[in-house]
Amino acid sequence: MRVLLVEDDPTLAGAVVAYLRGAGFAVDSVSTGGEALLESAVIAYDAIVLDLGLPDLDGVEVCRQLRERAHAPRILMATARDALKDRVTGLETGADDYIVKPYALVELTARLRALMRRPVDAIPPVLVVADLSLDTGTQVAHRGERAIRLTAKEFAVLEYLMRNEGRVVSRAQISEHAWDENYDAASNVIEVYVARLRRKLDEGGEAPLLHTVRGSGYRLGPQP
Ligand code: CA
Repeated sequence: MRVLLVEDDPTLAGAVVAYLRGAGFAVDSVSTGGEALLESAVIAYDAIVLDLGLPDLDGVEVCRQLRERAHAPRILMATARDALKDRVTGLETGADDYIVKPYALVELTARLRALMRRPVDAIPPVLVVADLSLDTGTQVAHRGERAIRLTAKEFAVLEYLMRNEGRVVSRAQISEHAWDENYDAASNVIEVYVARLRRKLDEGGEAPLLHTVRGSGYRLGPQP
């Protein structure tokens, strides 16, 4: 389990990193919101411990930006202000849980483990593009009434395309979000998955939704 700690107090950060490593987590640490957004764009963290009060962007803004990504990590918001308002703001912005500072390290560990056991989204959102829907909980897609079963990887690719409806996404973008570090950029694996997805999406004779944009990548959406 890989965790990113976002904490601008170096003493606290050092203590948390040492404790979490001792508890078996892989932990990286940054001290600003900007670094948090950069690091988490490169590495697919399972969870982020996010301080609310940061020197640049505040935790709420970082949280909001993380949630706009296709695969946001679980977010545990840490706030020094034990105010109901902060808690509500944190949860409304998409934090999965919050912890009040100063916190006991044993409690932080327990919260992180609980977060990992929780389903990715308590209420799984259904993504919809034209007559295509994708239940991100069951990982089953539908075109109209026709159910489409997907493999885990097909689901990951389709989810990313649907979250970027109407935009051209490159193979590199798809690989970042749907593959791990074992992705072989020289392979044609993405073309293979896109071709499979396209067959499944259109095999009922529906209007094509998954378009190849020559030299650029793919775009999901009705033909304009
Ligand atoms: Ca702080």
